[in-house]
Amino acid sequence: MKEIKVIKEKCTGCGACVQACPFGAIEVVEGKARISEDCRLCGACVSSCPYEAIVITGKEEAVDLSEYKGVLVFGEQREGRIEPVVYELIGKGRELADKLGEELSCVVLGYNMKAQAEELLSYGVDKVYLYDHPSLAVFRDDPYTDIIVDLVEKVKPNIFLIGATFIGRSLAPRIASRLKTGLTADCTGLEIDPESRLLLQTRPAFGGNIMATIVCRNRRPQMATVRYKVMKRAEKTSRRGGEVVVMDFNPKKVRDRVKVRKFVKEEVEVSLTEAEVIVSGGKGLGGPEGFKLIKELADLLGGAVGASRAAVDEGWIGYSHQVGLSGKTVRPKLYIACGISGSVQHLAGMGGSDVIVAINKDPSAPIFKVADIGIVGDLYEVLPRLISRIKKYRG
Ligand SMILES: Cc1cc2nc3c(=O)[nH]c(=O)nc-3n(C[C@H](O)[C@H](O)[C@H](O)COP(=O)(O)OP(=O)(O)OC[C@H]3O[C@@H](n4cnc5c(N)ncnc54)[C@H](O)[C@@H]3O)c2cc1C
Repeated sequence: MKEIKVIKEKCTGCGACVQACPFGAIEVVEGKARISEDCRLCGACVSSCPYEAIVITGKEEAVDLSEYKGVLVFGEQREGRIEPVVYELIGKGRELADKLGEELSCVVLGYNMKAQAEELLSYGVDKVYLYDHPSLAVFRDDPYTDIIVDLVEKVKPNIFLIGATFIGRSLAPRIASRLKTGLTADCTGLEIDPESRLLLQTRPAFGGNIMATIVCRNRRPQMATVRYKVMKRAEKTSRRGGEVVVMDFNPKKVRDRVKVRKFVKEEVEVSLTEAEVIVSGGKGLGGPEGFKLIKELADLLGGAVGASRAAVDEGWIGYSHQVGLSGKTVRPKLYIACGISGSVQHLAGMGGSDVIVAINKDPSAPIFKVADIGIVGDLYEVLPRLISRIKKYRG
């Protein structure tokens, strides 16, 4: 078992450890550091001590893997509405739970979420753990982490899935490090290995050039984040049963170091991840002016404007439009790529589109390998003709 101790002869009572401790578990008493039982053995004080006066001894206790059962999904909400990615995690979570013969549960934190929590049951969730309190209406790292870590320690899920949203990306690593387990971010595939029954977590690696499959053998839960639009959305089922478990919550028992003063919403005309049609521009546009044509076509089709990273890096359009490995994953019915070469990193974000149309003047551009319809030509000739044909067709 791991233990932490202060070497009194070395400690000068300088207080560096007090500042470093994220849990407020250290105080200086009579000139020496004293560590309370709130310590989570994170080690921040050890590395902060200039006198090497704090040491952690012993070994990490082996985890009894047999105690961990079931698949847990983080039921992220914003402004009281369950995020769309949650339904996709439920779809995948149900499949994994069925393969393991285990339960699928969901944890929801928010305020006035009872009806939404009950609604989740109709998507095939066996149990929803609900923390409903005004102080949880808006996401903050500290209380959300404390609550979820506490739940995981009680419920002991085998697998824990979180959406790779801004919130999920902040929350998942905090939870994983507190639980001392692994985390695979931005998974594009999740399967159960039939022999070992471990979760096979696949994600692009080395800039998207290879797909790596990662397993978490010795720690639990097996944690993964998944981007929106990567997994198939769960359907409503006629399956009855399932329950919402309202959890006790005492705001005084959780940390909260951040005060949210104001939310500023980014104005986005059509959400890229929700759009059924996306017209994207790349470096081939040659300058920011090119996006006027892209927007004209997108507006005509009731769609959204996307971009390659090269176009974003040039400063021609904002990052919120970037599609790809380090941008957004999209899955529209129609994706029109204009002046985009088709790098693996771009394809990682739009390869799942139903129909891909590519306009590129280079016939050997890799985008044509994934395109359903390829137009070899100068986009400044093709796009105006396409726009005028659509206008004429619509009268
Ligand atoms: C870790 C990592 C993450 C990355 N993440 C992303 C990401 O999220 N999204 C992303 O897009 N990229 C990403 N990239 C960058 C990626 O590797 C490519 O550099 C980028 O996608 C290239 O953008 P592009 O196709 O617009 O530009 P280019 O590769 O320069 O292609 C421009 C294309 O336009 C064509 N063209 C030129 N003029 C015209 C014209 N007048 N008419 C028609 N066609 C024309 C050319 O033939 C060419 O095919 C990432 C890279 C790394 C290493």
